[in-house]
Amino acid sequence: MLSDVISTMNNTKQDPVFGQLSFDNHEQIVFCNDKDTGLKAIIGIHNTVLGPALGGTRMWNYSNEWEALNDVLRLSRGMTFKSAITGLNLGGGKAVIIGDAKTQKTPELMKRFGEFVHSLSGRYITAEDVGMETEDMDLVREVTPYVTGISESKGGAGNPSPITAYGVFMGMKAAAQYKFGSDILEDKVVYVEGIGNVGEALVEHLVNEGANVTISDINRERLEMIRDKYDVKIYDGHDLYSEEMDIYAPCALGATINDNTIDKIKAQVIAGAANNQLADEDKHGLILQERNIVYAPDFLINAGGIINVYAELEDYGRQEIMRKTENIYNTTLEILDRAKANQITTNDAAMRIATERIENRKKENLQ
Ligand code: NAD
Repeated sequence: MLSDVISTMNNTKQDPVFGQLSFDNHEQIVFCNDKDTGLKAIIGIHNTVLGPALGGTRMWNYSNEWEALNDVLRLSRGMTFKSAITGLNLGGGKAVIIGDAKTQKTPELMKRFGEFVHSLSGRYITAEDVGMETEDMDLVREVTPYVTGISESKGGAGNPSPITAYGVFMGMKAAAQYKFGSDILEDKVVYVEGIGNVGEALVEHLVNEGANVTISDINRERLEMIRDKYDVKIYDGHDLYSEEMDIYAPCALGATINDNTIDKIKAQVIAGAANNQLADEDKHGLILQERNIVYAPDFLINAGGIINVYAELEDYGRQEIMRKTENIYNTTLEILDRAKANQITTNDAAMRIATERIENRKKENLQ
């Protein structure tokens, strides 16, 4: 009966796309499907005021399509503010491919994905994210110029992860300077959660500076490899957040600072690479502020990767990449100071600067 259908519809918690909680006035959301290669992807273009929407592609075994959609909505929004705060002329976008990168990623699937990217005529430019390698971007490059993060041998800036890690390290040092009065991390107890491409490079910087590093990951083999390579400790417990530590560095997936973890966190500084670390930016940002835990906004300190790939579009070299990435230290300090002066969360302080830049450009574009 129609009334049953309507009543079911009224009971639906959220409308399918525009009603999702993560929807934030995104300009365009593209669903891509290809029967032959098994490709199921979603491209999210959040905002293109500052320039084309650039952001990586994540391949992940999402448990359902809602999860994938919400991930791309959150991630693409994050890219808008990341580029804005870093001073890049780029908008925010991101793509997710639904599937297991280890078993379902094929060259044909990557090229088909590239064709979908190409169909957007440069409004979206892709790059690597979780589950992607430089070689995957090389495959995408065969069918579209709208891709960054390709191999150096093919004229690209190469793997962005080491630069991302360097930026995170700079942001972490700035947060330490603010919290502990010194940016020297020697003997600081640092937990790195997720020791993939970025996490490993971060561990290397930390070990070189003499920090006391503990690592955690769901991949046991990788944990043992990194432990042996850098002489660090593996976390074997079940509740990392409750551990005594100076610095917590989330470098796996997002939303690890959530209702279940926030009250347990003993770290005094949170600074890591993962995107969208706060499950709820306002609520969890505020609790961290009240608890005097210094949170270095993720989208600010993990911008090294985008600075690196932006070089491919703007044609600047290694020196400029490093200069811009090192500047994350100054921007982080500026934001922490601003947050204190205005009694707002650090995330809010960063968002305000980023939003101002977008709004100003919007006005200029209208003139
Ligand atoms: P990666 O796939 O190389 O590494 C992620 C690691 O996290 C893997 O080792 C994985 O086993 C581990 N992991 C997954 N779930 C986990 C869990 N629940 N607990 C512990 N470990 C877990 O990815 P990456 O390129 O190193 O990126 C890490 C994070 O940084 C991601 O959130 C990514 O979006 C973000 N980021 C990366 C870049 C970059 O340049 N690669 C740039 C900006 C932001």
